[in-house]
Amino acid sequence: MNVSSPPGRRAEPGLVRAEPGPVRAEPAPGRAEPAPGRAEPGPGPYRVAMLAPPWIPVPPPGYGGIELVLSLLCEGLVRRGHDVTLFAPPGSRSAAEVREVLTEPHEDDIQRAIYEADHVARVFEALDRAAAEGNPYDVLHDHSGFTALAMADRIWVPVVHTLHGPFTEDTIPFYVHHGGKAHLVAISEAQRESAPDGVQVDAVVPNPIDVDDWPFRREKDDYLVWLGRFTPVKGPHRAVAAALAAGARLVLAGPVQPGDEEYFREQVEPYLGSDGVSHVGEVQGEPKADLLAGARALLMPIRWEEPFGMVMVEALACGTPVVAFAEGAACEIVRPGVNGFLVENEEQMAAAVRDVGSISPQACRDSVAERYAVDTVVAGYESVYARAVLGSVPA
Ligand code: UDP
Repeated sequence: MNVSSPPGRRAEPGLVRAEPGPVRAEPAPGRAEPAPGRAEPGPGPYRVAMLAPPWIPVPPPGYGGIELVLSLLCEGLVRRGHDVTLFAPPGSRSAAEVREVLTEPHEDDIQRAIYEADHVARVFEALDRAAAEGNPYDVLHDHSGFTALAMADRIWVPVVHTLHGPFTEDTIPFYVHHGGKAHLVAISEAQRESAPDGVQVDAVVPNPIDVDDWPFRREKDDYLVWLGRFTPVKGPHRAVAAALAAGARLVLAGPVQPGDEEYFREQVEPYLGSDGVSHVGEVQGEPKADLLAGARALLMPIRWEEPFGMVMVEALACGTPVVAFAEGAACEIVRPGVNGFLVENEEQMAAAVRDVGSISPQACRDSVAERYAVDTVVAGYESVYARAVLGSVPA
């Protein structure tokens, strides 16, 4: 597509830092100035281009933590008077104006570079077009993976990038090199603390939940639940071990994503159908909410720096305690003895399961209602947008 670029706004060839190594948050050429057509940068309301990943529609029909966050965030921003365009896969619905980018979602191709690059490049083109037409965006809020962040200094609009994944051996060099091109937002204190040297995180803004979207149940049924992607770091096989050790029924729910088939077949499938362990597949909507609300506890035997863990907050909203391994954001979300327990291994998890009756369902719900309220999260992002629009370097 041939799109004229806004004069003086794009990084000119040759202006881009060529040296390897950390890149500091030095605004790109023209970055700190108001976008063309806009008066002075101010406190808002803002015209926000919200960039979803190319894989799953918003809100997600089933699995999809980022897509759920995007749905609530767009709703909250629009309610506060911001002008939000959601660039997302076909089938998306939102309080924001939805602009479909590719011709179909790519749920079975998650992480495939061709789709992410295509999706992001088309959105960059749309931003150029909006500016050329005299209706520029103030900020691009990126949730889409790696491409937009790596290219954030090639577009004239300031970029806010929410870190949805953990810092790992693979991703650390990427963030050290490219992180300074955008305002980085962590979704938990734990995630911010795990940021490597050379990566500056602007703010911590947790993921939102509207507890009124979730049923509250005081009386629980006689089963434990594990909900998530069937992948080793999320530990469904450890949930099985803990449930068997506790002599408790366990319901597992969630998708097996590409690449995890062998793990599922070898470490989870053999346990299904016997000793009270069952798998109900990917769940959504009311059945998912009922599954969480009816459980004695949600098991979270994670072995990674969990960046946030939406399922914990969802279970708590339903009045269901969480028993989690003390990893990443679980240590913030779970308040031991109040809304669940933090444990170190499967044996401790089995022991904690016997004590979950002492946890008050109301305390569980209360523990997330305000902390992660949509308005709290929206206010957090408004501050980040203000800094981004003013071109200030993160504190
Ligand atoms: N989820 C779902 N159906 C499933 C499994 C998961 O709707 O069968 C949802 C779950 O309710 C949550 C999201 O997918 O909203 C997973 O987000 P989380 O942050 O817990 O995990 P991650 O993003 O690391 O996969």
